Amino acid sequence: MSDSDQQQTVESLSSGIYDNLITSIIQNIVAKETAKQRLLNARYPDIKAYVRDDLGNLDINGNPKSQESSKYFTCKNCGREISANRFAAHLERCLSRGGRR
Ligand SMILES: [Zn+2]
Repeated sequence: MSDSDQQQTVESLSSGIYDNLITSIIQNIVAKETAKQRLLNARYPDIKAYVRDDLGNLDINGNPKSQESSKYFTCKNCGREISANRFAAHLERCLSRGGRR
């Protein structure tokens, strides 16, 4: 056996081990994900996939997005109705005043 023959053997052997490793890792991932998907399908048989809208006009349920300013939340601290797009700022001010007003 010459040097080049042995080189070939070591290369093909390591390549075989590598292929084997990669294949079993992939099979493991596929088996886990398949089992997970089967469990989800069994648990939620009529689940709807989320809507993906690249234009950003629909939410994940397929409903048109509404303006944030049209939604109002009640501040639990002072009881006032606050527009959704100003709620975070209000809450910060409201809580830092110690709920005086
Ligand atoms: Zn408040």
